[in-house]
Amino acid sequence: MAQKLALVTGAARGIGLATTKLFLADGWKVAMIDRDAETLTQAANELDDALPIVADVSEPEQVDGMTKAVLHEFGRIDAVVNNAGVADFGPIEQHGFEMWRRVMETNLDGVFLVSQAAIPALKESRGAIVNIASISGLRASTLRVAYGTSKAGVIHLTKQQAAELGEYGIRANCVCPGPVRTKLAMAVHTPEIIAAYHDAIPLNRYGSEDEIAQVIFFLCSDRASYVTGQVIASDGGFDSTGVGLPALRTPD
Ligand code: NAD
Repeated sequence: MAQKLALVTGAARGIGLATTKLFLADGWKVAMIDRDAETLTQAANELDDALPIVADVSEPEQVDGMTKAVLHEFGRIDAVVNNAGVADFGPIEQHGFEMWRRVMETNLDGVFLVSQAAIPALKESRGAIVNIASISGLRASTLRVAYGTSKAGVIHLTKQQAAELGEYGIRANCVCPGPVRTKLAMAVHTPEIIAAYHDAIPLNRYGSEDEIAQVIFFLCSDRASYVTGQVIASDGGFDSTGVGLPALRTPD
């Protein structure tokens, strides 16, 4: 059987890099997409069967060129993982329009653009799309007016994709990670936020890049062949709980 090809955005580091490594370990080839040329090249140099392509997912022309390059090199796309994301946190009144657009253009426009560009190839492979949202798209919190709203958009966009592309055999699912100690998270998680997450998560800890990647990989694999339009939180239980956890942990 021909080797399958996964296109992973934001693959230079963090969750995207961990996902890339899982695909490679299972015998897939990977097109690693990122706009950070230096980090991407470094990461790809250490991997076999991975092709780095520098592109900004929020720029339609770059997405078009990147997709053509992937198809020219590999001739197929079996899975698209829309993982590239940015986080800018700030109070709602001080969240300038530029910051709003900066978050939206990568987190939401990028998912729309990359998925759309890959549709013809995914029709041929009857492939899968996995979009990376966040628990911030499931539950509102302070400081996340753009980030949380962009991720809620990704959740709905996934359902639209599942509704419209199912007849071609294309599946679309969404993974909502809880907190993971990546560069993205550490730039916006203050010590107070870190403590609050520990309090609010039944498993009482951050997740790892690999724990998120395992869920992404499952949803791209044939093991999930009858799963589409779903939103799966890989979040240590954060989304399932309400008030009371810290009090129960320390009854005295
Ligand atoms: P990260 O910052 O470590 O990696 C993100 C990668 O995306 C970087 O290499 C960056 O260069 C790339 N990127 C950003 N904008 C891009 C663009 N426009 N075009 C191409 N590449 C771009 O982040 P991470 O923590 O691994 O996050 C991966 C995804 O998981 C994001 O969508 C993020 O919102 C989501 N997420 C992360 C957490 C967490 O706690 N780390 C929690 C929930 C959701």
